[in-house]
Amino acid sequence: MFLSVRKVTESGVMFAPLVCRKCGKKRAERKEIIAEIVETEEKYGRDLQIIMEEFYRPMLVAGLLTPEHLAAIFLNVEELLEHNVTLAEKLRDAMEIAQEQGDEDLLTVNIGKLFLEASPMLHAFESYCIRQVRG
Ligand SMILES: [Zn+2]
Repeated sequence: MFLSVRKVTESGVMFAPLVCRKCGKKRAERKEIIAEIVETEEKYGRDLQIIMEEFYRPMLVAGLLTPEHLAAIFLNVEELLEHNVTLAEKLRDAMEIAQEQGDEDLLTVNIGKLFLEASPMLHAFESYCIRQVRG
């Protein structure tokens, strides 16, 4: 009885906040992984932003290299950053919405769906890698 208690969030998502110890441990691990994914994605975005603001733009403004040379060096970093910003925001929002609704374990966060929605990002990475190989 106790284990089958269900909770429904404001958005109508149902989840069971109470489970056995083993499942509870898995939930805690899952929660940690989600939080880590969100943090890693945000940190990656900050790194890309530094590349753009501290290196790309000053070099462009200084006019020491042609836009073609800069494009050959920085590839599609700006595109990667755009995708990252979108994904990082969606991840952070999903996590905060869950927490606001009392879902502390982030059970209502559909992390797989968010990554599937972000699949165009993979093409940007593909293009980045291919251009790197071509040098
Ligand atoms: Zn269990």
